[in-house]
Amino acid sequence: MAEPIDPLLELSASLADLDEAGLRRRRRVATTPCAPSALLEDRPGPVIAFCSNDYLGLAADPALAEAAVLGTRRWGVGSGASHLVSGHYAVHEELETRLARFVGMDDALYFSAGYMANIGVMPALVGRGDAIFADKVNHASLVDGALLSRAEFIRYPHCDLAALAARLEASTAPRKLIVTDSVFSMDGDLAPLPELLALAEAHKAWLLVDDAHGFGVLGPQGRGSLAHFGLSSPRLIYMGTLGKAAGVSGAFVAGQRDVIEWLVSKSRSYIFTTGAPPLLAHTLLTALDLIEQGDARRAHLNALIDRLKHGLHFKRWQLLPSDTPIQPVVIGDNHETLAVSRALDAEDLWVPAIRPPTVPKGAARLRITLSATHSFAQVDRLIHVLNHLESLQP
Ligand SMILES: *Cc1c(COP(=O)(O)O)cnc(C)c1O
Repeated sequence: MAEPIDPLLELSASLADLDEAGLRRRRRVATTPCAPSALLEDRPGPVIAFCSNDYLGLAADPALAEAAVLGTRRWGVGSGASHLVSGHYAVHEELETRLARFVGMDDALYFSAGYMANIGVMPALVGRGDAIFADKVNHASLVDGALLSRAEFIRYPHCDLAALAARLEASTAPRKLIVTDSVFSMDGDLAPLPELLALAEAHKAWLLVDDAHGFGVLGPQGRGSLAHFGLSSPRLIYMGTLGKAAGVSGAFVAGQRDVIEWLVSKSRSYIFTTGAPPLLAHTLLTALDLIEQGDARRAHLNALIDRLKHGLHFKRWQLLPSDTPIQPVVIGDNHETLAVSRALDAEDLWVPAIRPPTVPKGAARLRITLSATHSFAQVDRLIHVLNHLESLQP
């Protein structure tokens, strides 16, 4: 018999190991709302933040804050129960109808978070004996959803269609589900959705698309990645989040009517949790208006993306090829990436260092994100400082 381990002692030692490996996570405390200019408790002056997923700058938009106030007056704060018991309100219904119409689907289901949506959808659709085919760099919530389902979890190299096709051919699973980020959250590139859908059709598989970073940003009026590619199919299941471009919180799954009905009866992370506050659903109706009318915001955002891409010139670091607001700079080493992030901080620029296990080992990076509320001058300053910092490298 092995000696039992003192779990607290072990944990404290493991924390020290994390420190040593440059992997200890720390949260910075902001004292101002989500915006390009931010005050933080750990430093004296403001920073220009390039870290949020608030791509359209709606998180602290006065119109949205006002909608939340009105929503609170109308609905109070809590929903009081899970949706299937008594926590489902007319405003939830209205939001779901609008979301479905907006992304061109029959029906939609509003979840409290994207994480909850992903861990709720996959186990409702496939189980033991079935197979899930997943891009290797998919978001962690899709990995967790796959593991919870108990289906065989088959990963294919990033965006490698031939490898996916071979794995689909080889599988004898009765039910197959292909799952992908539309815009990869740490790389910023787009999944080849038309080709993935063709494979799904050929193999009678579901295609679950996680559009956390596409909804509100891509496609006409920000209708998302499916609209961007002009795709529709009964095999498609769409997941969009509402805490990023939409500026609020929550997520939704959209698809064929029966798919959504099935999720209402079977999705455990929908059923066994308190309904999201109706005030948020109310606020999200205004967020949808702002997204729909957001062409000017998206045009400015795209101009900022262009400016950054054309302004950065690296010899050793690598700016990943991306046309989305996610613009990662791969540096490689954890400590070096942290050091660069700190050097940026000293220049009043806040760009997070993303390290394993969020990204592969040896591929630590700065994850620059742009928002429609950034100015050209703010982006120019980031370009200037980053080019200078890289030129100091051996
Ligand atoms: C942020 C994110 C999620 C999780 O959504 P939340 O609403 O924040 O829980 C899921 N998938 C991807 C790709 C994401 O980037």
